[in-house]
Amino acid sequence: MELKKGARVNLTFGNQATVIKELGRGGQGIVYLVDLDGQRMALKWYITPPDEKFYKNLERNIRQGAPSDAFIWPEYLTQKENGSFGYIMKLRPSDYFEFGNYLLARKNFKSFNAMLAAAMKICNGFMMLHRFGYSYQDLNDGNFFIRPTDGDVLICDNDNVMPQGEKSGIMGKARYMAPEIVAGGIPDKYSDRFSLSVILFMLFFANHPFEGAKVVACPCMTETFEKRFYGSEAIFIYSPSDKSNLPVRGVHQNVIKRWPLFPSTLKKTFIDQFSEEKLWHPNTRMIEQEWERIISKVRDELVVCPHCHEETFVDIEDNKFKCINCGDDIDVTKQLKLNNRSLILTAGTKLYINHDNTPDAEVDFFPSDKNLLVIRNLTQSCWHIDTPSGKVKVVNPNEFLPILNGLKISFGSSIKEAAGTKGEVIA
Ligand SMILES: [Zn+2]
Repeated sequence: MELKKGARVNLTFGNQATVIKELGRGGQGIVYLVDLDGQRMALKWYITPPDEKFYKNLERNIRQGAPSDAFIWPEYLTQKENGSFGYIMKLRPSDYFEFGNYLLARKNFKSFNAMLAAAMKICNGFMMLHRFGYSYQDLNDGNFFIRPTDGDVLICDNDNVMPQGEKSGIMGKARYMAPEIVAGGIPDKYSDRFSLSVILFMLFFANHPFEGAKVVACPCMTETFEKRFYGSEAIFIYSPSDKSNLPVRGVHQNVIKRWPLFPSTLKKTFIDQFSEEKLWHPNTRMIEQEWERIISKVRDELVVCPHCHEETFVDIEDNKFKCINCGDDIDVTKQLKLNNRSLILTAGTKLYINHDNTPDAEVDFFPSDKNLLVIRNLTQSCWHIDTPSGKVKVVNPNEFLPILNGLKISFGSSIKEAAGTKGEVIA
């Protein structure tokens, strides 16, 4: 039953929320703007109430709390009244847009940097979700809201999140389901990992990894065909061993245009994750931490072109260093070596030492000499620099060091993950 403006809904905690207006509706329920003790919140109200098990699961999720700040998590449960129930969550800020808008190019990331930040945040959200013992179950492009300026992500519709091994009864959308789920299996962290690879592929390339020539040739997408294309006969569009499902010119323009732009590290990972082996052996799929490492590696290859000053990727693995915008060669001789990573140092490039989305350093010009590059410390703590001649220097927050061969940087305590590792400048 729908709620009217001014209706009061009783929460299990004893307080009441007052309906202000409808914000939107989907298949399962209606979302209302409500007032809760003077605070504006959102209420999701089910049109047809799900069963008791669902209600208990919501109650448990609310008690446990959100796995990370990426989730717009259920915060309060309503009592069962007016023939249904619902839950209260935070409002989604207006500068976040549904992922589907990005796929249709109604919204675009401001930069590759923002795109990579979104990928990182999604991976981290899934890692935390699984660490909390949950599986997502109903993963699709309607769950993600992304801020185009910086790629920050909010994951919504978390009412279908269940402990692993349990089934919410909600099947998810076929396009995002792992083949074994399309075939009738129960969603778990392995099938979530598959869905994560699909979401990431779509984030980078704005087309679906299995939608190529075969799908275009299909006269009408029936359930039988769906089960084949996303299940039993799924073929990655860039499968090196099977070219029968390549993207089609004029239909899959996004991926045709973008695929060549990205470094081979990323492309090889998708080829591997969508290989027959990984499709049919769920427990061989890559864990979220490994995805984070890959995205971090791709971010290491994102630089500012010294010629046109636009973002571009360099491809260290394939030795390709031409700007994707102006075509000029990028000088990659100046690097920061960090364990097995190579961060390319060009003016304007931001450096990410750990896996969060806050840059830790930036390559800049020396204030009075535009021929000299420096690394600026964007962190909150001091860095210690060892020079080749055995001197030790301190670089305070917002100060910089010159890019000189052999300088070794010990990052301060504000980058926890980097404690004990040293970066070495190669120039
Ligand atoms: Zn360029």
